[in-house]
Amino acid sequence: MNIKKGDNVKIISGKDRGKTGAVLHVIPETGKIVIDGLNIFKKRSRPKKQGEKGQMVLVPRGLAASKAMLICASCKNPSRVGYRMEGGAKVRYCKKCRSNT
Ligand SMILES: [Zn+2]
Repeated sequence: MNIKKGDNVKIISGKDRGKTGAVLHVIPETGKIVIDGLNIFKKRSRPKKQGEKGQMVLVPRGLAASKAMLICASCKNPSRVGYRMEGGAKVRYCKKCRSNT
């Protein structure tokens, strides 16, 4: 996975297709990312005690990282990224404008 926490991404499939947002968490075990304010689903909770009301809660769900594209910070385009070696360190770069991201 080449998306990191704090990246801006564009969702390319699913119900929030075309929307953009910042990555809040990355879940490496499942290859999923959680994006701020996106991919939110309603969940109804049942009343647990008598007299209590069931309520609707909004829960963000993880989205497969392959369904999101990184938005490059320098060219502002959703782009594919690659890795290259620079001074002995692996750096991520944008395949469109070739600048490091
Ligand atoms: Zn770029």
